[in-house]
Amino acid sequence: MSERNTIAIVDQRSASAPAATRPRIPDTPAPRNSLLSDGLGRPLRDLRISVTDRCNFRCSYCMPKEVFDKHHQFLPQSSLLSFEEILRLATLFVAQGVHKIRLTGGEPLLRKHLERLIEMLAALRTPDGTPLDLTLTTNGSLLTRKAAALKAAGLQRVTVSLDGMDDAVFRRMNDVDFPVADVLAGIEAAVAVGLGPIKVNMVVKRGTNAQEIVPMARYFRDHYGGRVILRFIEYMDVGATNGWRMDEVMPSAEVQRLIDQHFPLDTLDPSQPGETAERWRYRDGRGEVGFISSVTQAFCGDCNRARLSTEGQLYLCLFAQQGHDLRSLLRQPHPAGRPYTDDEIAGAIGLIWQDRSDRYSQLRASQPASSATAGRRIEMSYIGG
Ligand code: SAM
Ligand code: SF4
Ligand code: SF4
Repeated sequence: MSERNTIAIVDQRSASAPAATRPRIPDTPAPRNSLLSDGLGRPLRDLRISVTDRCNFRCSYCMPKEVFDKHHQFLPQSSLLSFEEILRLATLFVAQGVHKIRLTGGEPLLRKHLERLIEMLAALRTPDGTPLDLTLTTNGSLLTRKAAALKAAGLQRVTVSLDGMDDAVFRRMNDVDFPVADVLAGIEAAVAVGLGPIKVNMVVKRGTNAQEIVPMARYFRDHYGGRVILRFIEYMDVGATNGWRMDEVMPSAEVQRLIDQHFPLDTLDPSQPGETAERWRYRDGRGEVGFISSVTQAFCGDCNRARLSTEGQLYLCLFAQQGHDLRSLLRQPHPAGRPYTDDEIAGAIGLIWQDRSDRYSQLRASQPASSATAGRRIEMSYIGG
């Protein structure tokens, strides 16, 4: 990739962010199977891999049309990690404690031959021989066509984003006039091939789609016998292009009270440590709902997630301003003129994780106007949700 391209790409995704840092290699790499713990004692369990920065939707909270227009420069194919490069890194992450991989984007189903990558990742095993929890987040637009192939390739489950049941509201939110019926058909197809338990994520934006909360809850209670879990996400101040305002955030507690008035709820225990969603179940036994309260109830304390961007930069937090350029270790030679070894790359990942102290949401809650939370951040469509 030319230097000119590099500058343009960094500019567009995070105007004032410094270029990603080149990782350090430890003098004596630790054994490759050692489990990692960061500076705040948090393990590394969950890796989100963005496979494309492109999307066929223009959700205003993520890729507003005014910014992601025909002049927007998406990454050239040569910048993207190849499937082999993704597999190499994923293997090293899994050896160091990752047991869940989520493919994301942009819209991951736009990446050509994604099934091949899924097959490769599905063959990985954790150090104790367990298959990975392998999943994918999608806007659902291509699921009807692809669900069967994804399942056959070894994908276990999917999360589908859907912000309303009302066709006009949904078309406005995706801003490309995409009909809600096609996403519902995609969910149906995913259920039919057994890509479950399926989660449906709804970002709630006050003044835009709050009126869709109860219809969404009703729909997913009435269909699929509780096998599709609806989760409400607080609208986050991620990225720099969506014009985020606190008064457009509808706190989860308010959403939960609203649903409870229509369909009484009881609280549930988290199913695993580091889980982002607070879980509730319908008292009448018709399934469960979740609430992801990234703004009003920070869950940094046990955040065990790392994010690998489309071009192979490792981010330690959704709100990070700088990544760590793992791709350089895959593509550029060691100063000794040979390729970096797996042990060296694993060692570099270890050092990066051990240095981690990110806890953006906690800091924002305790000191909203501090320098710790100021500065321009990377876009969600680049880093993956
Ligand atoms: N295109 C896929 C999709 O929409 O499911 C995957 C990528 S998208 C960036 C991942 C998730 O991030 C989606 O569920 C989306 O709703 C969520 N998201 C994007 N911007 C957000 C924001 N500002 N606040 C909260 N969630 C957001
Ligand atoms: Fe695309 Fe997903 Fe972002 Fe919407 S949330 S614009 S579907 S990447
Ligand atoms: Fe994790 Fe960063 Fe989100 Fe906190 S703000 S939960 S550290 S991604």
